[in-house]
Amino acid sequence: MKTVGYAAHDSEKPLEPYHFERRALRDEDVSIEILYCGVCHSDLHTAENDWGWTHYPVVPGHEIVGRVLEVGSGVTKYKVGDNVAVGCMVDSCLSCDQCHHGEEQFCREGMVGTYSGQDRISGELTQGGYSKHIVVREEFVLNVPEGLDLAKCAPILCAGITTYSPLRTWNVGPGSRVGVIGLGGLGHMAIKIAAAMGAHVTAISRSDKKKQQVLSYGAKDLLVSSDEAAMQAHANQFDVIINTIPVKHDFTPYIPLLDIDGTQVLVGQVGELAESNSVPLLMGRRRVAGSLIGGIAQTQEILDFCALHNILPEVEMINMDQINDAFDKLKQGDMASRFVIDMSSLEV
Ligand code: NDP
Ligand code: ZN
Repeated sequence: MKTVGYAAHDSEKPLEPYHFERRALRDEDVSIEILYCGVCHSDLHTAENDWGWTHYPVVPGHEIVGRVLEVGSGVTKYKVGDNVAVGCMVDSCLSCDQCHHGEEQFCREGMVGTYSGQDRISGELTQGGYSKHIVVREEFVLNVPEGLDLAKCAPILCAGITTYSPLRTWNVGPGSRVGVIGLGGLGHMAIKIAAAMGAHVTAISRSDKKKQQVLSYGAKDLLVSSDEAAMQAHANQFDVIINTIPVKHDFTPYIPLLDIDGTQVLVGQVGELAESNSVPLLMGRRRVAGSLIGGIAQTQEILDFCALHNILPEVEMINMDQINDAFDKLKQGDMASRFVIDMSSLEV
């Protein structure tokens, strides 16, 4: 199928229109007309090859919402016209222990990323959601529950699951004390989700500029990370801290905020971190951990959870040709929301 998207051709140049083919439908495939796609900071990291593993050309986008156009002969879960979604993965082996217990992101053979990945059958590069169409095997297609606003829900597919998954892993529930560092796409979803789980949520930011916004998302307070007296006053007060900072930094100053046995979960920076210090870890059996997106079943769970609790990402809609400006704004880090591309702005 011929389609069009926006692609990066190398790390220096802006994204530009790109005509390409989606694979012919296999028996287990669902072909989707993309209606909306969120703009994740990982899209920017990948376009600029910050992690060193980008394959060009790359069409980014892994917060995909659309409508089923066609299904393969073996597809049982979806039919033409259904509202569906695709997140950060489009395939895995589906037979190893990790896939069997629903953590395809940790597939022993490696999951296939929605973009800049390699198709397990043809070896072709996978291309993401900044495009009109996508073809994905049905096991990696999610159902958009009725009641979720299609134009707003796309960020749940990455920002939502990436923060929901560690909140579940570390058993956040009523009364849990949760801190969220970095109030962008991931951070603002972490606040909304943790608040809906009944947690007492504190936003942690470089300044207090986003305070009113995040209080309206369900945070009870905002702690400015450069305010040493405030940081000391919050010592030992958190069970879980979700750290979404997207750049190399030192996570040590946040460790004393944790109570005994508390955990700081790194979901932001992928790669080198600044040198750390073990003293506050030892003095309180505190932990630092990492977390990567979430499995397919859990991604469906967070979509359903958001529908049930009326949680929607805060979104700023853009047209496809505004993506390079959106990337520039993302680099500044001053939004407590997510850009979402309205794909009707792109002509085939
Ligand atoms: P955003 O740019 O939307 O938000 C990041 C936030 O971090 C900013 O709003 C800002 O918040 C803070 N920040 C930005 N720059 C700095 C800096 N130099 N120092 C300290 N804080 C800073 O990004 P996303 O939320 O989309 O993504 C965050 C990170 O998570 C990215 O690196 C992305 O690649 C990664 N990611 C990881 C996933 C995983 O599976 N682990 C999945 C998806 C994304 P404030 O102004 O409040 O300080
Ligand atoms: Zn993402």
